[in-house]
Amino acid sequence: MRVHIDQDKCCGAGSCVLSAPDVFDQREEDGIVVLLNAEPPAELQEAVQEAAAICPAAAISVEQPERV
Ligand code: SF4
Repeated sequence: MRVHIDQDKCCGAGSCVLSAPDVFDQREEDGIVVLLNAEPPAELQEAVQEAAAICPAAAISVEQPERV
């Protein structure tokens, strides 16, 4: 899994940080999302999918590589 964020879209709602605090953080000055781990391990992927689904600005996208 590869995670992408779009800081231009992010409105600083912070829901992603609540869902997956090991993957997302927020800048202290304005609350804009910061990606901590672009390739989260398997045990965090469900939380990341949830974060992407609930982000009100649709600023999180997730890429699933083809399984080989
Ligand atoms: S949930 Fe979306 S809008 Fe809110 S901080 Fe995270 S990326 Fe930004």
